[in-house]
Amino acid sequence: MDTILVVNAGSSSVKFQVYSALGDGALRRQIKGQMDGIGSRPRLRASGASGDALADRAYSVEAVPDVPAAMSVAGNWLRDELRITPIAVGHRVVHGGPDHVRPVLIDHGVVSRLERLVDLAPLHQPHNLAPIRSLLANFPGLPQVACFDTAFHRTHDLVADHYAIPQQLYAEGVRRYGFHGLSYEYIARALPGVAPKIAKGRVIVAHLGSGASMCAIKEGRSVESTMGFTALDGLPMGTRPGQIDPGVILYLIAEKGMPAAKVQDFLYRDCGLKGLSGVSNDMRELEASTDPRARLAIDHFVYRIGLNAGMLAAALQGLDAFVFTAGIGENSASIRARIAEQLGWLGVRLDAGENAHHAPLISAADSRVPVYVIPTDEELMIAQHTLSLLMDGQLINTRPKRVS
Ligand code: AMP
Repeated sequence: MDTILVVNAGSSSVKFQVYSALGDGALRRQIKGQMDGIGSRPRLRASGASGDALADRAYSVEAVPDVPAAMSVAGNWLRDELRITPIAVGHRVVHGGPDHVRPVLIDHGVVSRLERLVDLAPLHQPHNLAPIRSLLANFPGLPQVACFDTAFHRTHDLVADHYAIPQQLYAEGVRRYGFHGLSYEYIARALPGVAPKIAKGRVIVAHLGSGASMCAIKEGRSVESTMGFTALDGLPMGTRPGQIDPGVILYLIAEKGMPAAKVQDFLYRDCGLKGLSGVSNDMRELEASTDPRARLAIDHFVYRIGLNAGMLAAALQGLDAFVFTAGIGENSASIRARIAEQLGWLGVRLDAGENAHHAPLISAADSRVPVYVIPTDEELMIAQHTLSLLMDGQLINTRPKRVS
């Protein structure tokens, strides 16, 4: 059976999934795995479609020193032990820059254009590109597709895409890109099946995970996002502060003498729920904690989501539905209930029982705005994009070569 490999590579882990193509455009997830601890304590874990463990094995740092090595070990395991030879590979790539509005077939030219965007996403883009480069070198006939976190938001109006800074910086790429686009695109595509009446309307989607953002979607297209130039802006997250007065950064540099690298580390790793609570970046631990600082961090998270929802409702000029997704949005009934209270002025009322059961529709019958819980699936989105480029015949070989 034809299979598609989906790769999501970070600085210290490579996550992968294998899908089988069922022939009619449908896809079935077969394997989910990851190599983590790259460069420190590498470990390959993988499970099958029903959650059955397929692998859990440790490697030496010498065997898996970097992301390309991790990709190669995982690829060899898939091929040699499971006899899986994908017909194409879809990659999550954080930044597509101003021009990529959809996924693209990868060749050397695409890779060099994406390399020019490393400055815009230095913590993610190099790691996303590393397995692409090594697969291109080792399996030049294997079709690869890049799917971007920014692409879904490239439909924003100019007025939403700009900061109030000189145009020269905009021309250089300092724009309000927005991220989590693959998640929002998945939700936008799922909405007609879940709620056909509002799929064409004005919808706020709250992607609340360790990274968190919200997106305003109108007629299936993104019109505004809480994230901007980087994935630091907007909502408070596990370890990132969300919206912050740039004056705070100036204070850290001028008064605390922090160099740029330290400021970067601070903003990506030490702020958000973790920094504010001093307890944890994990919402489950904060909810279980009796520490008043954990309470404050949750209150702040909920409050900022309420404020940002107001902003997005203004961008949409109204609201026809609200959707929760990602780790916190899909699993925490209490956080959803508290956010819904914040949205009461918009006419949101939850059905406590449905919310407790994580039902797809959790709003009360008299809620002016229906509220949904839709589990996101960014990897399936990538697999679908990869398959549809294959089926459209946009790949170099109409019948792609198998890797041997
Ligand atoms: P993600 O990045 O989408 O995997 O989401 C990770 C976040 O979801 C972490 O903050 C987790 O604590 C949170 N999360 C997962 N399950 C639950 C749960 N049952 N209750 C509260 N938070 C949860």
